[in-house]
Amino acid sequence: MIEDIDCDVFVRIQTDLLVVGDSIMTDRHHASNGNYEDTDPQNQIGGIIPAFPLSGWLRHGMERVVHEYDGTACHPGESNANFMKDGVYERDLDDGYHEKGACVDDPKENDGCVVFDLFGGFGNQPGKVMRRPIKFNPVRSSVDYTRGQAEGHYRRLNRNVVSRNREDNREPLRNAEIDAVANLDGCWHLSLRETKPEFIGLLAEGIDFLDGHQTDFMHQLGGARNFGAGIVDCHFINPLYEERELKRVFDRGKGNTNKMGEKDEQWAKEYRPVFVEALEERIAEGP
Ligand SMILES: [Zn+2]
Repeated sequence: MIEDIDCDVFVRIQTDLLVVGDSIMTDRHHASNGNYEDTDPQNQIGGIIPAFPLSGWLRHGMERVVHEYDGTACHPGESNANFMKDGVYERDLDDGYHEKGACVDDPKENDGCVVFDLFGGFGNQPGKVMRRPIKFNPVRSSVDYTRGQAEGHYRRLNRNVVSRNREDNREPLRNAEIDAVANLDGCWHLSLRETKPEFIGLLAEGIDFLDGHQTDFMHQLGGARNFGAGIVDCHFINPLYEERELKRVFDRGKGNTNKMGEKDEQWAKEYRPVFVEALEERIAEGP
């Protein structure tokens, strides 16, 4: 069954507003002939959302799935890192995590826990899932979903921080500019260096978990979460789809074909349960 799954899988990501601090890289070549005005709603600025915030968000969702199956996952941080607050690391270790890399004696001999296997750990242990950045573009016809791209609109938000002292008359103290992407809809491309049934099971379950907890502060994506940013609708795209079927998912003018409907049923009834079972078994074996 796992032979039917390609090493390239896709996650649909939809969000009204995403803020990833200063780390959105913009591509201004398309901007109106050099008359670049970042507040102009007509601007044609595309850009790249780096994989780091996406990866952390996905990993956290997956860790929670591992916890729900009574397993522990590698802690994302080094045990000797300065965690700012005493006891945070120890508290996490009591709460569903083991020390990063504690599940691996020799990386050549064993794969560690499923989270270590996917995300890697120390130095030359890269992990078996490669998380790519998402390239976004405001012009939908220029978006190639099969390459993990998205429609999205670059915005720069301005925030004035004003003095609260009455005698200052709300005088601005400073101005903060925030890079954001509005109305994002597209594909996040993940490449597996090796396909294992439990990887696909964990991906499917992790994405479902994140979708179901999209308004939980802990499971929102990026920054400005207190201001309604980072609430993400996400959906693991049926890995049985062919490229033209994947494109059709994003085509608002066309619905699913009958063939796609059949594949959805196959995925839900035959494939997914097998992969989730493989995940349960792997977790039950212990890290
Ligand atoms: Zn581990």
